[in-house]
Amino acid sequence: SEDPSFWKDHNVQVIIRIRPLSTSEISLQGNSKCVRQDSFQTITWSGHPESRFTFDLVADENVSQETLFKLSGVAMVDNCMGGYNSCMFAYGQTGSGKTHTMLGDIDGGTGRHGVNCGMTPRVFEYLFSRIQKEKEARREEKLKFTCKCSFLEIYNEQILDLLDPSSTNLQIREDTKKGVYVDNLTEVEVTRARDVIQQLVQGSTNRKVAATNMNHASSRSHSVFTCIIESKWEAQGVTHHRFARLNLVDLAGSERLNKVKRRQKSSGAEGERLKEATNINKSLSTLGLVIMNLVNISNGKSLHVPYRDSKLTFLLQDSLGGNSKTIIIANISPSSCCALETLSTLKFAQRAKFI
Ligand code: ADP
Ligand code: MG
Repeated sequence: SEDPSFWKDHNVQVIIRIRPLSTSEISLQGNSKCVRQDSFQTITWSGHPESRFTFDLVADENVSQETLFKLSGVAMVDNCMGGYNSCMFAYGQTGSGKTHTMLGDIDGGTGRHGVNCGMTPRVFEYLFSRIQKEKEARREEKLKFTCKCSFLEIYNEQILDLLDPSSTNLQIREDTKKGVYVDNLTEVEVTRARDVIQQLVQGSTNRKVAATNMNHASSRSHSVFTCIIESKWEAQGVTHHRFARLNLVDLAGSERLNKVKRRQKSSGAEGERLKEATNINKSLSTLGLVIMNLVNISNGKSLHVPYRDSKLTFLLQDSLGGNSKTIIIANISPSSCCALETLSTLKFAQRAKFI
């Protein structure tokens, strides 16, 4: 399953995922669609003017959770097993399928995944199977792995620990040894996919409760699930250490990005809601800049990147750059009802890839 050609010398892969039409979309606009897929890599937005986009992959509604994992998650885990950091982002408007892609249907009870379970449980199932194989193959080196997970939410530029929701407003710190980290964030050691699913279920429940308490929909926050994979082995009497970070990010709904632009143009301020929208806008547009720069670095160019302009990019800066790999899954609805949001997602994804 290892595919060294996956990254094709680029550090960033951009995938479009088209979800099926929903029943409410069908009742509003019938089967009328705003996009058509032309090939594995191209998609046409059929409004005015008609616009064609090219990506690393366009996955339509027939692409299963398992296939999507094989086309992206596998390469991400392989990259981490090589000692490099990886990030996967789910981008798109609320309702476009971000959470379906990243989590899907998870069942904390059995820890076994069904056909609809999403990227994260599959990533960890595969990670632990690779760890097991590697340990067996390198027994004489006494190869050991330690995996620690954390799960946080960024809402309105404040960090909340989803594994301990009494911990709010956590601070990001920088250390020459540890790199960038979140102070006091809960880290749970995990040894099998089932442990991870348990944390995911717990964290997701806490995310819903927090959203209710703080009176916001979880669509207005980013969630970041991180696993730090530490390996240790002996060679010629010397102990070696290696660290890799695997980050899986379910971004806030991108419709805020467009709303704030429109609102700033028309009426101006609206207190808390505007501040919230501006923060989402800032983190998504800074993320866009950071990713553009990653593409530039692979092309031998570099620009100044304002990592610190948002908590999200500051937090992930060690995982966005250098030898790190990034996958963006831009989720879209194919319905004519969502034509404008779908177009803006295609444009964001395109900017992330080509300048
Ligand atoms: P988001 O997290 O972007 O707000 P969701 O992941 O919650 O969106 O998806 C909205 C609805 O659409 C959910 O009911 C979800 O199950 C469904 N859905 C999304 N993507 C798909 C897909 N690829 N196949 C089937 N159902 C999907
Ligand atoms: Mg969601």
